[in-house]
Amino acid sequence: MKNIVKKLAYLGVPALIVLMLLLYPHFKGLLTDVSAASEFVLDTQRVLVLDPGHGGEDGGAVSLSGVHESVINLEIARRIDAIMGLFGEEVVMTRDSEELEYPDNANTVRKRKVSDTKRRVELVNSIENAVLISIHQNIYPGKQPFGAQVFYSDKTPEAKDLAICTQDILKRTLNPKNKRTAVKVSKDIYLMNNVEGTAIMIECGFLSNPEEDALLQTDEYRLRVSWAVSSAYLSFYGGANEG
Ligand SMILES: [Zn+2]
Repeated sequence: MKNIVKKLAYLGVPALIVLMLLLYPHFKGLLTDVSAASEFVLDTQRVLVLDPGHGGEDGGAVSLSGVHESVINLEIARRIDAIMGLFGEEVVMTRDSEELEYPDNANTVRKRKVSDTKRRVELVNSIENAVLISIHQNIYPGKQPFGAQVFYSDKTPEAKDLAICTQDILKRTLNPKNKRTAVKVSKDIYLMNNVEGTAIMIECGFLSNPEEDALLQTDEYRLRVSWAVSSAYLSFYGGANEG
């Protein structure tokens, strides 16, 4: 119970109202179609694995304002976890702290980073029907580039469809000027290329863009990103369950 209260603390009452509006089709579905609703809410087959990128000794990219992306990734993942909890979706987090534990024999920063990445791969692959959503922030040498972008693994055809759905909702809810499209992840992202099931990675925005960096430092925008990712996941799988 304490845990639920802690999770809900990430969502204010106004947040819940907007969330309900965003997810209105599902609420409507719950009221009018009991069989579809029970499948939607009580689907215990699929497990969402949320991966807040980096953490521990690896802070990832650093924003113009000096904040490591690991902090933003965790804040967004916690909010998605809280929203998913409201819908009875099972969620596993690959980390829930900025601190990470490393094995004793990982005696260099590189070895600790490699061991942590392998730990995440093993965790995801140990869960039957896991759907991985890895949360990151982007960075570029120039200040111009902006916009969320979704990457997918080619291990399942479903990953590409989930990525396209998520990209579309992120674009529409965060910034309609964003012209980015969902693309296949590059071969050098170890986690994404070594998990067996459906996996997408979301670069929520550019920490090198002053406007987007400023937005990503606010609770409001982190919550907006989290709603967008959650509603994409729920509408993608909610629709699939009904069909
Ligand atoms: Zn990253």
